[in-house]
Amino acid sequence: MRATGSRRLLLIRLLVAALVPLGSLAMALPAWAGSALSAWRINREGALELRTSPNSSAQAFFEEGRGGVGPRVWVDLPGAPQRTRTIPGSGVVRQVRVGRPNASTTRLVVEFQPGTRLDPRGLKLLGTSRDRWRMDFGAVAAGLAPLGEGDLEAPSAPSWRATVPERAVLPSGPVPSAASLPDVPRGRYKVVIDPGHGGPDPGAVGIGGLRETDVVLDVSLQVAQLLQAKGIQVLLTRTSEVDVDLPPRVALANNSRSDAFLSIHANALSMARPDVNGIETFYFESARSRNLAQAVQEQMLAISPGSPDRGARPGRFFVIRRTVMPAALAEMGFVTGQLDSPRLADPAFRRRMAVAIATGILNYFLQNP
Ligand SMILES: [Zn+2]
Repeated sequence: MRATGSRRLLLIRLLVAALVPLGSLAMALPAWAGSALSAWRINREGALELRTSPNSSAQAFFEEGRGGVGPRVWVDLPGAPQRTRTIPGSGVVRQVRVGRPNASTTRLVVEFQPGTRLDPRGLKLLGTSRDRWRMDFGAVAAGLAPLGEGDLEAPSAPSWRATVPERAVLPSGPVPSAASLPDVPRGRYKVVIDPGHGGPDPGAVGIGGLRETDVVLDVSLQVAQLLQAKGIQVLLTRTSEVDVDLPPRVALANNSRSDAFLSIHANALSMARPDVNGIETFYFESARSRNLAQAVQEQMLAISPGSPDRGARPGRFFVIRRTVMPAALAEMGFVTGQLDSPRLADPAFRRRMAVAIATGILNYFLQNP
């Protein structure tokens, strides 16, 4: 976050990608004309939802209220709308404006009632598919009468739909608990969990500023807790935001005489490649390490519908090459991926991921006692 006078540039540019030609939109949606924006809505849960042309860029901003004017959130998108307009709000939303700050930009401004308290740290514009975006305003905006323009229910871009069903962006259904995990003999196994990165090394940084280190620490701590609940002794190479070099991680593991080692990471590619998503797990040489990698990979895939299977495959990472026990390195998805990133940002999904990884480790022990 960078402060510029009283105006805070809150949210970084989210995606950089080529725009598709917009000519076909002009006929169907005269209000939008050349704008990348084709529909928006503020729903009953207090979330702003946008539909744009596929792979559009977007920038979001926040300005605090003052002098009888409420706080404002706005999103800038490429291409100018054919006409500017003001739409009366509901609840804490005073009004929404579709503006044209210059000849090549659409600005969607959400102005709140004076005195509305928004926490800018909680505001993030997340790409949920190649043409959908979402920003949660939080509890303060919940329960308002929905408002919006355009057809948000329209099908997503075909190339996205070909691989990912629209409704599968965040898996639904009850989040599993430790009770659903398979049983292994209590007190028999010892496992080292290695949350990648940490401290000054955030690992990969992805869409909406999602940091690999935060994702992997959260999931790792939950995996440890789940395994402990099943009578497994767990050692963590780090339990907080500290920097641990690779050799001490391996030394801790090797000195512990553990039965398995799992390093947990999230992948990243360029911010210009949101189309690259997927799950993969690495191992080094031994058959047992391969079995461990396969068992974890299988479970991670099962809770990540639509995310490509990049396989359980050989890798030469230091922490799996130098550890003496069966070892694997799991990549839970891409923080730069349009599909994986919103999932990895979601606490419920991280819980599913932790249960999946713990299940994979337990299955490995059942199959390789
Ligand atoms: Zn990593």
